[in-house]
Amino acid sequence: MSLPPLVEPAAELTVDEVRRYSRHLIIPDVGMAGQKRLKNAKVLCVGAGGLGSPALMYLAAAGVGTLGIIDFDVVDESNLQRQIIHGQSDVGRLKAESAAATVREINPLVDVVIHNVALSTDNVMEIFSGYDLIVDGTDNFATRYMVNDAAVLLGKPYVWGSIYRFDGQASVFWAEHGPCYRCLYPEPPPPGMVPSCAEGGVLGVLCASIGSIQVNEAIKLLTGIGEPLVGRLMIYDALEMKYRDVKVRKDPECVLCGKNPTVTELLEDYEAFCGTISDEAAQAASGSTITALELKEMQDKGEDIFLIDVREQGEYEIVSIPGATLIPKGEFLNGSALEKLPQDKRIVLHCKSGARSAEALAIVKNAGFADAVHVGGGVLSWVKTVDPSLPTY
Ligand code: ZN
Repeated sequence: MSLPPLVEPAAELTVDEVRRYSRHLIIPDVGMAGQKRLKNAKVLCVGAGGLGSPALMYLAAAGVGTLGIIDFDVVDESNLQRQIIHGQSDVGRLKAESAAATVREINPLVDVVIHNVALSTDNVMEIFSGYDLIVDGTDNFATRYMVNDAAVLLGKPYVWGSIYRFDGQASVFWAEHGPCYRCLYPEPPPPGMVPSCAEGGVLGVLCASIGSIQVNEAIKLLTGIGEPLVGRLMIYDALEMKYRDVKVRKDPECVLCGKNPTVTELLEDYEAFCGTISDEAAQAASGSTITALELKEMQDKGEDIFLIDVREQGEYEIVSIPGATLIPKGEFLNGSALEKLPQDKRIVLHCKSGARSAEALAIVKNAGFADAVHVGGGVLSWVKTVDPSLPTY
């Protein structure tokens, strides 16, 4: 299935532009008409992070006339392993500003629009409406569903990508011509089931593999060439070095783009829709959450506690709270952790930031450990309030 170009060609290319884009111009499928379409194109990149970095850089180099960058975060040292649009001297700087500076350096002919805000239900429709195409580089389910819903409601296509460790996925969602994200994933995963890159890690170069697919598809859609990734999900395994694509059909029952949609406007609260922790975990944690400082006091007083770190081995090796025993959350989910728990000590659980330990706490309490607690804010809070000399990640 080929689709008509998204964008009308600009009137002309200047002499400078002809020189700059000559390697595009001599490709028959792109040519002068294709490059003029890119010049007229307005593309928004949601997130200037792992996927947004290569996406923005190649979109800029390709000559997309207007590039929007939306990000409210600041550059952190731990971003530099993969977010190559930012450099060492950008640490602490707003990501949108840092990304815009790199884009301008790559191609001063690009009109850069900085949206230094958090994408929300209050602004997403207005921001998206100013663009022909959206490239989704977000890393959380709440924003992902919001991006999808806004794009479908506005009738706009978007290029989606996702990365985790060595695995990547990409697709083009365009409800007028194929499925939307909700056709593929009607429900968000249960909170805590799918680890984020911050929890599970990501191979830096994977961002380039998936980000470049996204740019490739963006250019095809803008110029109307090739077979777009509409109705297909590209799955990449960097360890096996294999790409495969699977068909994704439009779901006639899709609540958003199906025959009888029940979602006809944005949801009120996407965070609540996706949930950061499950209801059981929230209930277990209520009244059973201690601070890192309280944990330190318990330890200093010599209280009889059994401190359990529910993170993964690799995280434990980066930084851990003294005295903690590592029992990863998976062992609580499959039940094998329970026999390791002492009956005569108070159970104290912690993780990186408090979400996984709340999930484990629900299981532990269900198993009869009524006085068990977890550490709000996890090891990050320990580093911040108890021992700032320790590393974070
Ligand atoms: Zn759908």
